[in-house]
Amino acid sequence: MATAKIQSTHQERIAFVYVRQSTPIQVIENRESTERQYHLRERAIELGWPSSRVEVIDEDQGRTGSTAVHRTGFHRLATEVSLGKVGIVFMLEASRLARNNSDWYRLIEICGVSGTLIADESAVYNPREPNDRLLLGVKGTISEAELFTLRTRLYEGRWNKARKGLLRFPLAVGYVRGPDGAWILDPDTQVRERLACVFDGYRRQGVVRAVVRGLKEQGLELPIRVTAAEGYGSLVWKAPTLSAVIRILHNPAYAGAYVYGRSEYSTERRSPKTGKASAHVRSLEQWPVKITAHHPAYIGWEEYVKNQERLRENWSHDENRGAPREGRALLQGIVYCGVCGRKMSVQDRAARENRSPSYLCGRGYHDGDEKICQSMTSRPVDAAVVEAFLGAVSPLSLGVATRVLDQVEQDLITRRRQRELQLEQARYEARWAERQYNGVDPENRLVAGELERRWNEKLERVAELERAYAQAERDAEWSLTQEERTAIAELSQDLPAIWSAETTTDRERKQLLRMAIESVQLDGVREAGQIEIQIHWRSGTVTEHRVKRPAPGESSLKTPEEAVVRIHEMARRSSYEEIAEHLNRAGLRSAFGRCFTSQHVGYICRRDGVAKRKPRCASKSEESLDSSTSTES
Ligand SMILES: [Zn+2]
Repeated sequence: MATAKIQSTHQERIAFVYVRQSTPIQVIENRESTERQYHLRERAIELGWPSSRVEVIDEDQGRTGSTAVHRTGFHRLATEVSLGKVGIVFMLEASRLARNNSDWYRLIEICGVSGTLIADESAVYNPREPNDRLLLGVKGTISEAELFTLRTRLYEGRWNKARKGLLRFPLAVGYVRGPDGAWILDPDTQVRERLACVFDGYRRQGVVRAVVRGLKEQGLELPIRVTAAEGYGSLVWKAPTLSAVIRILHNPAYAGAYVYGRSEYSTERRSPKTGKASAHVRSLEQWPVKITAHHPAYIGWEEYVKNQERLRENWSHDENRGAPREGRALLQGIVYCGVCGRKMSVQDRAARENRSPSYLCGRGYHDGDEKICQSMTSRPVDAAVVEAFLGAVSPLSLGVATRVLDQVEQDLITRRRQRELQLEQARYEARWAERQYNGVDPENRLVAGELERRWNEKLERVAELERAYAQAERDAEWSLTQEERTAIAELSQDLPAIWSAETTTDRERKQLLRMAIESVQLDGVREAGQIEIQIHWRSGTVTEHRVKRPAPGESSLKTPEEAVVRIHEMARRSSYEEIAEHLNRAGLRSAFGRCFTSQHVGYICRRDGVAKRKPRCASKSEESLDSSTSTES
């Protein structure tokens, strides 16, 4: 029956064997099916194709079959078939060729046009015959329907389970499943404490980079659960990275929450490389399944939420505070406009201009407003905020001192504990390797050799950790001397001194400010000549301050005091030109650093109301007096 359909015109052309499995996991787990697919090659030879003309297309191994776009093998197949080079296409089950009906029908169509046969393990079909064509079509439809129901059932089932908090997925490192399936904290003390160490570091430093640096300095690694197929679920220790720490901080599991659907996969957005649907991260409020207090937590839910905000803020974006940067404007990142509520930016001046930076509300202008909302020089504002800050903090300085000291000691204790645990673990591993080595038959030299090598490695690791431990102990001793303690206590008591110390950078000052101040609001519009400052303290209180807005030119560009005094002195007896010459000879320069001219001098005289005595032209008006200065000698 099958052979009747095969004619010599078919046999003269190539036979294609199309091998495909859905996912890489299936490729590994479903070897049998793969083998069956390769057996089709033998079937082709049985049916009369010489082995030289049988070609196996397995380029699509490990690619999912929902569309053909990213399956190069399927494309090649379709192309070759349409060129009329192919006599027959073999596949395991006809419908497995394509899981998408349009691909499948297209292939039937092309095969029909080019007179190519389609065959599976049981039968050969000729797409030109109406019966066969119908059969092939039905097979495709059934396959797609099956897939659809299967998928819906799986999908719905998954969500149902997730809503009850019962859906199982790989647990975050630091958790294991208890006998009843409930999440429990990892019994491994080292894992638990290392995670606590990360959360604690972020709590204190507030910057992921600093946490990573801290871990690296102490030579502490992070526990990671292997998600690759090989060694799946096992625990490994790896050097801390920025992304690993961020992942830990982002993971709501550590706050005791069972969350499903943090990422949204839409089929419209696919990776151009792999063809997989790309993920879009949903915000916390949009998580479809969120069960708090589902299992024991490492941090509180409030802290988790706060951490998310902080992570977002430090992702220095205009809308957020951003980490403090260098630059003289101390309120950079925490200053808001009191008029429109928008965030104000800092306009830094070039260093040679020797002017202080300004706070500027220019967002509206960018968005199409006529002009900028308001701007003001930072100097008086910063001075007022700093004064308020130092005033607010000094009564608490004793408390700060104690807290700093406590923190230092606490740090030392945790670090020591971490090192001890690390050492303990290494010793345990060495003992274990030793037992394995002792347990093996000495005759089995290959195995014994390998075990001996591993044992040696473990011993080396122990020795290395012991050295590091001893060194750390020495370091710790050094940093805990009585003098050090006193010094810290004294320093903390004298915050104003730290503040103004030359060794303190602007960046550190900003950090200090941010420890106490959440944001600052400025309004330089409501009252002319005044800037109203609202400080929102982290404690929740708001204080109001007011500073005088410096007159134009007053704060930054100023004629040197000495020159002004001399002008005042000489104004009554000399011409503007004479005064200018005198000033220039004395080496004095204008506010812009240029030589004085009679115009300069005239401007200052008029500004300060210093009358110039005019012995020869006393009757002339003030104006003509000025304009005639250049002709006088
Ligand atoms: Zn504004």
